[in-house]
Amino acid sequence: MSVEFIDSHCHLDFSPFADNESYYLQKAQEKGVIKFIVPSVNKSNWVRVLSLSQQHSSIYYALGIHPLFISNDYQNEIDLLKQSLQEHREKCVAIGECGLDFWAPDCDREAQIYVFREQCLLAKQYQLPLIIHSRKSHDAILKILRGMKLKKGGVIHGFSGSFQQAEQFIQLGFYIGVGGVISYERAIKTKNAIAQIPLDKILLETDSPDMPLSGFQGKINTPDKVANLCDYLSVIRKESKQSIADVVYKNTTSLFGI
Ligand SMILES: [Zn+2]
Repeated sequence: MSVEFIDSHCHLDFSPFADNESYYLQKAQEKGVIKFIVPSVNKSNWVRVLSLSQQHSSIYYALGIHPLFISNDYQNEIDLLKQSLQEHREKCVAIGECGLDFWAPDCDREAQIYVFREQCLLAKQYQLPLIIHSRKSHDAILKILRGMKLKKGGVIHGFSGSFQQAEQFIQLGFYIGVGGVISYERAIKTKNAIAQIPLDKILLETDSPDMPLSGFQGKINTPDKVANLCDYLSVIRKESKQSIADVVYKNTTSLFGI
């Protein structure tokens, strides 16, 4: 019996890991986490995530513009993204992370929506899945996705929401990205949702270095914690760790084509 995992969302290019990612990859591999998807947030780290994927056979990357990292000159950045995608290598497995974040009351919603829509169109053009960040914006994202009719779908990363919301994303061909939130007692609504959605629609992710699991608050989150997430999922869903690991692994390889 062997369990293997993929961290479907970790920022291994962020500073806590800088130039020491081999150590964290090794630590993760000891727990069975053998592949890693590293999304980007804007043009400042597109080159870095690409080079990580060239240095490590286990790392794949995504190119995108995160709603909280949109520059004033976003049209220019979208043009640069188009160029980068034209040159994209086989290890670029998605567009992301992108999406909408309406949490801050003073955010520029119109700019976010424009930049997100453009990235949906690119996902369609290149037949790549989307890695979506959605905070206080599930309805707005659903509305945009419904108009897009994407073939590849994608993942709603770091999902926290109700079963009804998860179901609507699933109907549009999306997977639900499950992270550290399920380790917290208080996350009752999200845990209920995760207990009910079909296992073949779930991905696991740490969002390292953010989103530490319960018991690890204040520490850097690391990709080896995917194994702990599987333990939590097993309790919440009353299914064996082995069957969860097997199905989730297959979900992840089939979405990203890896
Ligand atoms: Zn992220």
